[in-house]
Amino acid sequence: MSDGNCLLNLQIMAGKFGYKLNPETLLYEIEKVSAKSRIWHGLFFLLWSLVLAAAVWWFYVAVLGMELPKTLLLRKQNADWTSRLEQMNKRLDALEASLAGVEGRDDGVYRNIFGLNQVDPERRHSGFGGVNRYAYLEEEGASPLLRKTVLRVDRLTKAAYVQSLSFDDVGAISKRAGDMASCIPVIIPLNPGSRYRLSSPFGYRSDPIFGYTLFHSGMDFATDIGNKIYSTGDGVVELVNNEIRGYGNQVIINHGFGYKTRYAHMKTIFVGEGQKVKRGTLIGEAGRSGKATGPHLHYEVLYRGSAINPVNYVDFEMDTKEYETMVKNAAEASGEIPPSKLPKKNR
Ligand SMILES: [Zn+2]
Repeated sequence: MSDGNCLLNLQIMAGKFGYKLNPETLLYEIEKVSAKSRIWHGLFFLLWSLVLAAAVWWFYVAVLGMELPKTLLLRKQNADWTSRLEQMNKRLDALEASLAGVEGRDDGVYRNIFGLNQVDPERRHSGFGGVNRYAYLEEEGASPLLRKTVLRVDRLTKAAYVQSLSFDDVGAISKRAGDMASCIPVIIPLNPGSRYRLSSPFGYRSDPIFGYTLFHSGMDFATDIGNKIYSTGDGVVELVNNEIRGYGNQVIINHGFGYKTRYAHMKTIFVGEGQKVKRGTLIGEAGRSGKATGPHLHYEVLYRGSAINPVNYVDFEMDTKEYETMVKNAAEASGEIPPSKLPKKNR
């Protein structure tokens, strides 16, 4: 079975012992295997296993172009999440479109009805400010689609919140809708029975002092110094100001619903800031304070911060008797303060 040069060396590992064929006696003899030898055998076996595994992996991936089961699973999970994010973005498209519709109606209809200014578009779509809320996404290496989705959700949340605040405003003012008729300025600020004439209309005109063309933001009533001036609608005195030039002694009344009125070049002011007034409340006397060529009342109607033509807000049909009744009722309703009891600066 074998020749002398070829030593058939069979080693059967069995615990700490192996069997070796003695060619002379043709008997298997027990041979003790050293621990070192066993470790070397083990390492050799391990190395070959690794080489073989690497070769199989290389063949599977590089030659056959197949993917490992784990890669396949991750790829599928990734595709799932991407698809869910895309679905979510489609829903966000729909939600954004319906919110834009609500915002449009709010600005164009609801707020408009009650004279409220439109909500600042920048405020509507600003998102959340302050610290970088999205730093964690960058740190975690989130995909651009995930970052975009998170940003859109946040923007939409903020826009919905701003819209809810706007509805609060509209809700609060709509409760006062019944007051609108008494708040909006509709009368002339002087007793129709007193001496006055319309000396200058609203619009572009040649400036009476400097000569060049200027925009005249109000209507001028030339009248006697001391002629009484009345609030043209219910409201709250927003400003009492004494300017040496410009408007001179002036009062601005806020009527709500977007309306304010200005009474300028007055001699005396009988009201104070924050005071509630009725249509027909005595607020002061005509004069020629500030930049004025003669005694007159400069009267402005402001709507949402811009001067509009007062001629559309002045009822010249109202007769003296009707006017005086209104003045009397207003004085009774608001418990008018006599000029002598007002603070010195307002006299
Ligand atoms: Zn004027």
